[in-house]
Amino acid sequence: MTGRIVSIALDSPLDTEFDYRWTPASAGAPEPRPGQLALVPFGRREVVGLVTAVGDASDYDASKLRDIIDVREQLAPLPADWIALCRFAADYYQRPLGEVMLPCLPKGLRTAPTVALDRALKKRAGLSGATGKAAARKGKAATDTADLAPPAAVPGLPAPAAPPKLNAGQQAAVDAIVAAEGFAAHLLFGVTGSGKTEVYLHAAQAVIAREQASGRQAQVLILVPEINLTPQLEGSVRARFPHLKVVTLHSQLAEGERLRNWIAAHLGDAAIVLGTRLSVLAAMPQLKLIVVDEEHDPSYKQQEGLRYSARDLAIWRARQQDIPVVLGSATPSIESWHHASNGRYRRLDLTQRAAAHAQLPRVGLIDMEVNKAPDGLSPPLVAALRARLERGEQSLLFLNRRGYAPVMHCDACGWISNCRRCTAFMVLHKPERRLRCHHCSLELRIPHACPTCGNVDLQPMGRGTQRVEEHLQVLFPQARVLRIDADSTRKKGSAQAAFDSVHRGEVDILLGTQMVAKGHDFQRLTLVGVINPDTALFSQDYRAGERLFAQLMQVAGRAGRAAVAEGSAQRSEVLVQTRYPQHPLYRALLAHDYPGFAQATLAERRSAGLPPFVYQALLRAEAKQLQAALDFLQAARDLMPVDGIVINDPVPMTVTRVAGVERAQLLVESSSRAQLQAFLRPWTAALRQQKSRLRWSLEVDPVDI
Ligand SMILES: [Zn+2]
Ligand SMILES: [Zn+2]
Repeated sequence: MTGRIVSIALDSPLDTEFDYRWTPASAGAPEPRPGQLALVPFGRREVVGLVTAVGDASDYDASKLRDIIDVREQLAPLPADWIALCRFAADYYQRPLGEVMLPCLPKGLRTAPTVALDRALKKRAGLSGATGKAAARKGKAATDTADLAPPAAVPGLPAPAAPPKLNAGQQAAVDAIVAAEGFAAHLLFGVTGSGKTEVYLHAAQAVIAREQASGRQAQVLILVPEINLTPQLEGSVRARFPHLKVVTLHSQLAEGERLRNWIAAHLGDAAIVLGTRLSVLAAMPQLKLIVVDEEHDPSYKQQEGLRYSARDLAIWRARQQDIPVVLGSATPSIESWHHASNGRYRRLDLTQRAAAHAQLPRVGLIDMEVNKAPDGLSPPLVAALRARLERGEQSLLFLNRRGYAPVMHCDACGWISNCRRCTAFMVLHKPERRLRCHHCSLELRIPHACPTCGNVDLQPMGRGTQRVEEHLQVLFPQARVLRIDADSTRKKGSAQAAFDSVHRGEVDILLGTQMVAKGHDFQRLTLVGVINPDTALFSQDYRAGERLFAQLMQVAGRAGRAAVAEGSAQRSEVLVQTRYPQHPLYRALLAHDYPGFAQATLAERRSAGLPPFVYQALLRAEAKQLQAALDFLQAARDLMPVDGIVINDPVPMTVTRVAGVERAQLLVESSSRAQLQAFLRPWTAALRQQKSRLRWSLEVDPVDI
């Protein structure tokens, strides 16, 4: 009996698929199919790969090939459209196919022993048998239209939360999404509190009901930037769809749970998948709607390995599946706004806040040239805090810098706390009594005296959240102050516990970094203070302004979310401390004018030749010596002739040295995406051929330049 030649993608930097031989162990043994996982020998190891093609052995010398050890028959093959998605991502982001496919699978599928996989599948089978009616109902939900009837009649299932009535804008948005035939990209633009979540949930419900009515299954993928910050969304989804299987997919799940949830998505058991960026690469055979919440959020971009944008892949996937996709945001990315302006996306506006009496907060600018604040808090901001304390309302202070002070210095000799391994300062962490480098995590005890001159009077310079917390405790000794940042929430679950205490009203002043800006509705909050946002105005990164605007709108949205009974309390307030109150970004913020800000930003980008008007790729190199990294990039620059491509000079990165490694980069630009892609393919292949021992990486559509 002749065997078969099987092409397999492996998690290897070699940009190729590997051929193996398969011969049936016994008569009638099923031969491997594309999309199946297989255990194969690779070098001296045994590794799991993914079958991409199966061919006839007769026209090929198969005798030199090694044999497949095992095919994972127990798991249904990954579908062809998923393989196509991975092929696209590999091609577009210039990564070997195997390095795209394998790392995005849960670990339990990629390991040689099948224990985890078998256990997960057994649990799935056991579950539908053991819990009887309720589980069986889940299993066949998608083929039974009666399942959208109130499930209160079914014992053991919680009653669904009654969906709130939509306002006219929300209803129009839902209608537009559901009415779309085939692929359509919608940009759902609505201020914080305008009820975007309700639009997602109603659209999901309508799409699932429509498919069920035709006897078809439906799956909905809802992408969120960070699962930790959106427990409220998860709660809403589960409460609304108690009769459907809802699973989450994110990197913080325990391996077993992640594997089970991934399988539930892959086998179509899960009607709704709620996940972070990695879930855009989950197999979902019945996918009918994709939602990308907070589509502008930078965490949709993966910063290592396959440097993909989950938002962009979501658009591609919706087009591939010929289904609608919804991008939601109060401050859309400039790219998405551009696409909505030129008609590629349909813009759906939510202009009202959903809660009847909730109003947009009043934004005020505190001019720091006039109001001196040696401790970081200006007199008007302190007065506003005091008024909230007297009324028993909550305040939030936003300072996007953790630690006590960003640097320590010596007045006597000018010593400053540089990290010896990075081009960066060591940050003073006073409660922990440490200097910490936020780039390489090096930690030192706070020196008792200046390492250079022996002066014992070392001073902190600038301020972070810890220092403002200390000052608040002096100003308002009776107030309950809570700081939330990466340092105060290192323990698992501590961030959630901290947010819960804010919701319970146990906190008067909440102080934090961007962690406090996202996702939470604080009902008692009526004041948001922003401390020192100005540095972003003068950043080298051309996206810094866009990010700052989004961040300020988002943190401002924390205030005044509750429907305030008329006359009972005054309107919520946002106070921004700035030395540049005339800056156009702040003028737009005062007017809650995102469209004006976006239009001005697009005009600037157009005249400066920046994305979305050009397409970019960034080649980075790392070496012990900066010159070696620059030489590598210079050689890469001269590697091949280019047409319609601009390759800039190699330059050191802004933070040049991290953990003793020097880093440089080379920016490649073109006004045509197709031309850029056509250049990158052979260029990347040639770079791989170079056998340089130096580490390099390529990022297509880079976000941090
Ligand atoms: Zn000194
Ligand atoms: Zn360092």
